[in-house]
Amino acid sequence: MKAETICVGTEILLGNIVNTNAAYLASQYARYGIESYCQTVVGDNAERIKAAFEAALNRSDIIVFSGGLGPTQDDITKECVASYLGLSMHVDEPSMKKIEEHFKKRGREMAENNRRQAMIPDGATILKNDNGLAPGVLIETEKSGAKKVIILLPGPPEELKSVWEADAVSYLRNLSGKVIESVMVKVCGRAESEIAAILDDMIDSKGPVTVAPYAGTAEVDIRLTAAAENEKEAKKLIKPVVKEIKARLGDSVYTTHAGKSLEEAVVELLLANKLTVTTVESCTGGLLAGRIINVPGVSEIYKAGYITYSNKAKRKIAGVSRKTLDKYGAVSEQTVKEMAKGATNLYKADVAVAVSGNAGPDASEGKPVGLVYIAVNVAGKVSVKEFNFSGDRAKIRNLSVANALVMMRQCILEYYGRMTFGSSDK
Ligand code: ATP
Ligand code: MG
Repeated sequence: MKAETICVGTEILLGNIVNTNAAYLASQYARYGIESYCQTVVGDNAERIKAAFEAALNRSDIIVFSGGLGPTQDDITKECVASYLGLSMHVDEPSMKKIEEHFKKRGREMAENNRRQAMIPDGATILKNDNGLAPGVLIETEKSGAKKVIILLPGPPEELKSVWEADAVSYLRNLSGKVIESVMVKVCGRAESEIAAILDDMIDSKGPVTVAPYAGTAEVDIRLTAAAENEKEAKKLIKPVVKEIKARLGDSVYTTHAGKSLEEAVVELLLANKLTVTTVESCTGGLLAGRIINVPGVSEIYKAGYITYSNKAKRKIAGVSRKTLDKYGAVSEQTVKEMAKGATNLYKADVAVAVSGNAGPDASEGKPVGLVYIAVNVAGKVSVKEFNFSGDRAKIRNLSVANALVMMRQCILEYYGRMTFGSSDK
């Protein structure tokens, strides 16, 4: 089945807002095994909306509109679709009641325009919107003997997601007659190209399980999708593929839970081994500590962290020697190593992580932008790595943090072995 997205809104066309709805919907199609065929952005203009709709009807089975379901004069998606299909509109009483109650509760007068949000094309199905007033709309129609499904979703991203997840997804599942299951294998510390090379036969395979890698920051997510008669069958198809990927990629697979973050996996590992941790950061300025502290339950193992931004702070707080700083500079293997050692004296921790680098925008001490050193001290054994990142300041800092987490994980696994690897991901 082919799906395509038509995003309506002059502000998207002009670049005033980023089209995150198109990206979200495309990832959803992939998730449910639907081919993502085309994306269009069109302004709030009836003629052009209808032209985009006509083109979509000629080539796709499922057409998903985003935006233009609101109460204002430029919200015309529903009217355009209904008029193109020759459908009249009627007031959907439950939607009308919800809108009236919304205004009554707030003691505000309802504008006549708000009635438009409750207008539904005849024969259409309502898709409930728990996050806003305008319901989504689903229309089944036919074009040249082929069945077409048209889904209209509100523009605000939270509303769009809520309508999509509440009602549209279950409809599409039934439509395909098959159950689509997917599992996410999350990998860290390997480049996407390296993973693609190791798994190339699986990625190219025309077998029942689709293997698709998506690159993130120092991480790659590999989505496995299978369609089958029922959930059990689909899971049975996916299981051996997960096993094979784990065998090929080894410890760099950190979880098969889609919702688990890298920092959660690292904290889980620390908790499982009862290891306390501290951080000493320069160019990342607390970002690493922030990601670690994002994880609930971390207070058991994270007690203190430090930002040593200036050379003086590196000396006074982290105990880096003046000689090292003068000879090698703040962004050097030697300095970051001393930071990681000094950190454990500051606050007795089993694991200490230190980051020092040049996030830009200018070179400093003759060190290029993007040069970052990360050191991890596990029970006195210090590992150091040099990185040469490219990108702006924010990107370099984020890459530093992600790679520090990857290194923490690798060093702990190396030192303590796989025996105590995580809890739920054995
Ligand atoms: P409303 O009731 O808020 O008017 P609507 O369904 O009419 O909702 P639009 O008027 O098209 O939707 O857009 C409302 C807001 O939703 C936009 O101002 C923008 O913030 C956001 N939005 C719309 N389309 C997109 C998109 N494709 N990607 C991300 N955000 C979007
Ligand atoms: Mg609107």
